[in-house]
Amino acid sequence: MLLNAHDHLSHYPSTDEAIREIERLEMTTLAVSESAADYETIPDHPLILKGFGIHPWQVTPETSYQGLESYIKDCDFIGEIGLDFHWAEDASAYPKQLEVFEYFLQEAKAHHKICNIHTKGAEREVLTLLQKYQLKNQIIHWYSGPLDLIEDFLILDCFFTISVDAEHSELTDAIIDRIPYDRLLFETDGPGALEWVTGTPSWPEEILRIRQYVRKRKKLSESEIDAGSRQLMALLK
Ligand SMILES: [Zn+2]
Repeated sequence: MLLNAHDHLSHYPSTDEAIREIERLEMTTLAVSESAADYETIPDHPLILKGFGIHPWQVTPETSYQGLESYIKDCDFIGEIGLDFHWAEDASAYPKQLEVFEYFLQEAKAHHKICNIHTKGAEREVLTLLQKYQLKNQIIHWYSGPLDLIEDFLILDCFFTISVDAEHSELTDAIIDRIPYDRLLFETDGPGALEWVTGTPSWPEEILRIRQYVRKRKKLSESEIDAGSRQLMALLK
């Protein structure tokens, strides 16, 4: 089975074209959103699971999280949510980022939903909150933090997505080597992520290259390489 565990459908120059490629590949796609307005744009489609979240880059000191219950109940998973103390340069928003993230974690606990989590520069803070709420089986999206925290995330049965910098990053290689094969997922993070890495935007098909790279590196069988995706899908059903 093919699974793209984190994609931004609204970022493609043509969402319809991205969906045609998803259909051609028969690839289940976890479509994250960054706001309520972004969530509304995710199409209803049998291959697309809808994620509702407020991205940490969207959080300002004024951000409100009132009146979001209907979205939380409606969505297949929660995300993209999380913390970013690296790329988000406005430090005045960090306390609000923490407040919004903790709100979503409480809702995830209450509604038994899995979260798709951004951790950039705030890996330890994310881990501490997952431990506080004992949230298991969460998706850690494109991790690039300290290697010594990975074991603690794994104690919580977290999944880790490998993204488009696979085969371009020694850190990502070290992360691939540390994650058990049945906790690995693959993702494209919208068209812009690969453009950031190589200068060329990606399409959903990029999953095939990432999956093949990880498969070779870890010497996995055709069945083993998709074990994480199968386990996640069983939890999302
Ligand atoms: Zn993302």
